Amino acid sequence: MLKCREVAARASRLIDGELGPWQRFRMELHLAMCRRCRNFVEQMKRTRDLTRMTVSPEDQEMSAEIEAALAQRRSRSTGRS
Ligand SMILES: [Zn+2]
Repeated sequence: MLKCREVAARASRLIDGELGPWQRFRMELHLAMCRRCRNFVEQMKRTRDLTRMTVSPEDQEMSAEIEAALAQRRSRSTGRS
């Protein structure tokens, strides 16, 4: 049986689907019996969805900028050699 703090530590990985089937099973077993952790995971899921919606367009813009800067640097260095 997982402890509540172990569930809390793995909650984000559970939400992201990064846990193996056995770990996920143990998480779900705990969540089925522990309302506090269930609420915690539910809350985290909701926050994740919110941040994903609001943050991702900015992230895409940012990575496009970084990519442009990298491409510029790359063309400069190839021009030198
Ligand atoms: Zn718990």
